Amino acid sequence: MLMCRDLAVVASDYIDGELAGLQNLSVKMHLMMCRDCRTFIGNLRASTELMKAHSSIRPDEEFMRRIDERVAEALKARKEDSGDG
Ligand SMILES: [Zn+2]
Repeated sequence: MLMCRDLAVVASDYIDGELAGLQNLSVKMHLMMCRDCRTFIGNLRASTELMKAHSSIRPDEEFMRRIDERVAEALKARKEDSGDG
């Protein structure tokens, strides 16, 4: 039978859906019986979803970096242009 501390170890895998069928089932059964672990999983799931939402920022950062590069290039080109008065 799965214990609370065992559940804590596999909790993040359970949330990601990465547990094998049998292990997944024993986690579910434990959660049915144990309110503490239900709360624990609930909190962990909330923070995991928050992290996932944060990780979607990454493409934006890449996008912004490219814009920065373009702006820098444009400024450089301008300076070179204005050199020939
Ligand atoms: Zn428990």
